[in-house]
Order: sequence, then structure tokens, then C-alpha cells
Amino acid sequence: MPELPEVEVTRRGIEPHLVGRAIAAVAVREPRLRWRVPRAVAALAGRTVLAVKRRGKYLLLDCGDGHLILHLGMSGSLRLVDPRSAPGKHDHFDLSVGRQVLRLRDPRRFGAVLWTARPPQQHPLLRHLGIEPLSRELDGRRLHVLARACRMRIKPFLMDGRRIVGVGNIYASESLFLAGIDPRKAAGRLSAADCARLAAAIKRTLRAAIRAGGSSLRDFVGSDGRAGHFQRRAWVYDRAGHRCRRCGEVIRRIVQGQRATYYCPGCQR
Ligand SMILES: [Zn+2]
Repeated sequence: MPELPEVEVTRRGIEPHLVGRAIAAVAVREPRLRWRVPRAVAALAGRTVLAVKRRGKYLLLDCGDGHLILHLGMSGSLRLVDPRSAPGKHDHFDLSVGRQVLRLRDPRRFGAVLWTARPPQQHPLLRHLGIEPLSRELDGRRLHVLARACRMRIKPFLMDGRRIVGVGNIYASESLFLAGIDPRKAAGRLSAADCARLAAAIKRTLRAAIRAGGSSLRDFVGSDGRAGHFQRRAWVYDRAGHRCRRCGEVIRRIVQGQRATYYCPGCQR
């Protein structure tokens, strides 16, 4: 599943090819995605893309009088392709911009292509999203306020997108390792110092994944069609039974909220 780093890598990859250019044509081959592609999308030709933004895992193409909202769902990818390249079975949506085509491939069709003429932050899908982890909004103080009096365990807390958006399973485990925090600890019991370390660790982990070109464990394909390189340098994620690279203890796997959590009992107290 594409996570926030993959979406940000995609955004950075497509942005220079779209901004300032006119939409020449739109092709909706399969409107039955997560939600039906609205008719307004097919009428976008002629508009100019002013900016390519991201909110959580949503990509927002600012077209002046509204935004095209794109989401990659479970299996989606966006690539820039030559207009002469024939669409495949799962290539459901094309946006022709300049001399290139932005093509959405989505075998499982959990992705989304939507349009909103209102400010995107008011859209029902975006309205309740938590703070952006890479923005200045997230710091130790803000995290401490968010976690205060919360009895939820810190690992599922980090993955709750209504508080902080886009910290997926891998990144939550890795960030807690870097911050030296036991994932079973109640969020509300974190000290101000814990929160400062954790906020910094979240940013560091996400930035490292963006630098690595996204870290989907499957076949993430970058926006220019090249496979993203991910060096599997995780500290704890998917390393149950292996020794901690820092202290030599054996990494453990537990299940929290139906998701696997990995941690080092030596480094995370
Ligand atoms: Zn350790």
C-alpha cells in the first residue's frame, strides 16, 4: 500500500512536469474506483495545473477554480508516460498534460479520482485529517498536548490519522525505536522529553523514506517509471527474531490493533 513517503515522492516526481501546463485531454476508462469518478473530471481539459500539493496521502492538483483529488488506494501508482504508449488493463485514468500523460494504474481499484470546487480542506475526505507530520505543526509540545490524557497505546495512537496523518505501520515502529519508547506505553504517559524525541524521530524516519524513494515493500514504481530503491535498513520492522543492530537484544513482534508491531526490548523502555 502506498504510504505517505511514496505519495510525496510521486508528488515531487510529477510536479515539475505538470505545473504551469494546460490539461489537453482527460480519459476515464473505468469510473468505478473507490468512489465513482465524477463527470466534472472528464471536463477538465483546458484548465492549467497551478500547483501539485499533498495532504496526508491525497494528491491535490490545483486547477484554479478547483482541485483534482487523487488517492492511490491499496495498489495504485501514477506514472508519466509517452502519449503513444498503449494503456494496460488496469490503467483507468489518464490526464494529458503538455507532451506527457499522467496515468493512474490501479489493479484493485481502491484509489480515487475526485474533483472539488471548494477549498480542499473542506472536502469530507480531508476535513478530519490530523496534522502533517513533516510540517512545523508537529513538534514535541504539540505531540504532548495531543497525547495528554490519552489511554491508547502510543503505537496505534501514532497510526490514528485523525491526530497525525500518514504515519504508517513501518514508520510508527521505526520512529518508536529511534525515540527509545516502548510501543505498549500509554500515549498519555509520555513525558515532554519523550514527545520531543518522538516528534523528531517521526520526521527523521519519513524523510529517510522519502530520500530512499519510498519504501513500499512491493513494487513501488516512481512517477518516472523507475522502480523506487529501498534499502531495507529497518531497525526493527519485520525483523522479529533477529538481533537489534544497536544493542544485540532479540527483536520482538506483537500485535496491536490487528497490526504487527516490532520493537527492541533492550532499546525501548
Ligand atoms: Zn536494541
